Amino acid sequence: MNLILFGPPGAGKGTQAKNLEKKLNNYQVSTGDMLRDEIKKDSEIGKKIINFMNEGKFVDNTIVNKLMEKVIFDPNKKNRLIFDGYPRAIDQAKNLDFLLSSSNQKIDYIFFLNVKKETIIKRIEKRKSLEKRSDDDLNTILKRYETYMETTKPVLDYYSSHQNYHEIDGSMKIEEITSKIEEILKL
Ligand code: AMP
Repeated sequence: MNLILFGPPGAGKGTQAKNLEKKLNNYQVSTGDMLRDEIKKDSEIGKKIINFMNEGKFVDNTIVNKLMEKVIFDPNKKNRLIFDGYPRAIDQAKNLDFLLSSSNQKIDYIFFLNVKKETIIKRIEKRKSLEKRSDDDLNTILKRYETYMETTKPVLDYYSSHQNYHEIDGSMKIEEITSKIEEILKL
């Protein structure tokens, strides 16, 4: 089963993805984590993207799509993917459709964790003190939220007619969101 978790930064996608990883024996595919890893390794990709990431801007589609290609064609991960933070733009959604159909896979469920801006700001400020991410300061958060609204919202419209598209109130407690998702997936 392949799933997509959507939602603005701080909506709780990562937390839910980790729970589903355990429950389904799937793999969380977090583009944000993968990109942060590249920066940590100081790789060629890392050097190219560091400024974009720190400013809360989107990393170039070509770079992100390439990273996705590797994951989707990994035979161990086939039909066991939980996308967290991808696709974030229409081009990426189309690319995902293409990569999945080329590898005989599809998206089975799409969850949109919908959360208001004020809640997100509070949550990310708390996360900042715990995780010390360099892109978690208030200006960057606001920039990331705006970027999300501009480019990711159209992706939601693109997917909202999918038969297994579910919008979930992301301002609920973590456990409540988890139960809601598990109920839909009949876990
Ligand atoms: P996240 O951990 O998902 O909040 O992502 C952190 C940052 O990584 C974003 O603000 C972007 O700079 C970059 N990023 C993550 N996923 C993508 C993506 N699908 N496309 C472009 N940039 C991304």
